[in-house]
Amino acid sequence: MKTGSDPQTIKTVGVIGAGTMGHGIAQVAAAAGYRVLLRDIDRDSLARGIQSIERNLARDIQLGKLTEADRDSTLQHIRGSTHLEEVANSELIIEAAPERLELKQEILREVETHSSNDFVFATNTSSLSITEIAKASARPAQVVGMHFFNPVHLMRLVEIVVGKATSDDTVAVVSEVSRRLRKEAIVVRDVPGFASSRLGVALGLEAMRMLEQGVATAKDIDTAMELGYNHPMGPLKLTDHVGLDIRLNIAEYLYRELGSETFRPPEVLRRLVKEGKLGKKTGEGFYDWSSTSNQQTAISSQQ
Ligand code: NAD
Repeated sequence: MKTGSDPQTIKTVGVIGAGTMGHGIAQVAAAAGYRVLLRDIDRDSLARGIQSIERNLARDIQLGKLTEADRDSTLQHIRGSTHLEEVANSELIIEAAPERLELKQEILREVETHSSNDFVFATNTSSLSITEIAKASARPAQVVGMHFFNPVHLMRLVEIVVGKATSDDTVAVVSEVSRRLRKEAIVVRDVPGFASSRLGVALGLEAMRMLEQGVATAKDIDTAMELGYNHPMGPLKLTDHVGLDIRLNIAEYLYRELGSETFRPPEVLRRLVKEGKLGKKTGEGFYDWSSTSNQQTAISSQQ
């Protein structure tokens, strides 16, 4: 069996990008016993990524979920670098760079140039087509999606996204690695929105249309899902956490690609984005987050 097609031969995981997702992926891979090479082009981002890992581990010690020995072992398994050449010789490379097709393709080409290994390339893209990204590869059978969720060390789901050329062996490798990372993997065909975004965004947009039609307040719509369906957070509050601008971009993309009215962005979403009310990060979205109390005030659609 070739290196890139045998889960047992994965000893080193290279992670490209040390931002929100990359540092979390590096953390869970190191905790699972893989040697991790974490690469960011920006020295400060790399340092911030490593600090975030240290903070996550310290919190887990405080909560009694981790021993100091576990923390030390995890940290010893991670080496940070700003050089691609070091990371290129990993058996599995997980790319968590910004969401731009050309950038992801450029990284893939670069890694293939520098690597002497028969590696699997997994991209953490949340919306781009794996098949498109793999067009930059000389070995598209070994390119796959590994879609983690934020925060990576707490969220159990990984969507394994299978491109047109992705081989069964590659899916087997990343399924086994996901299991070792203690994640629950689902296997999804490479379609816009995969499984999670398509369903999650559909629910969020329908909640916005209900708000527009005055069916109920934002808070009551969210409570319907939280108490009636045991969702940890209602769809409007979740949109405030994700960012309304990000949700609008994804909705426009899914509307264009899938051609379904389900994904036509509601007016209230467009208006709030135009007004700069992007959710928690700007202090207001469907809720007012600027209040010092823990009880956020739900904004009505008429405002
Ligand atoms: P981020 O901006 O927090 O981090 C990206 C990092 O990549 C930055 O530190 C940047 O310096 C670095 N970078 C840029 N170009 C690079 C290069 N050529 N080589 C190495 N590093 C480079 O982004 P993020 O939120 O971690 O998102 C990364 C990917 O994960 C995106 O594809 C995104 O769609 C996906 N994703 C994000 C989330 C989320 O909630 N943030 C969830 C799932 C998937």
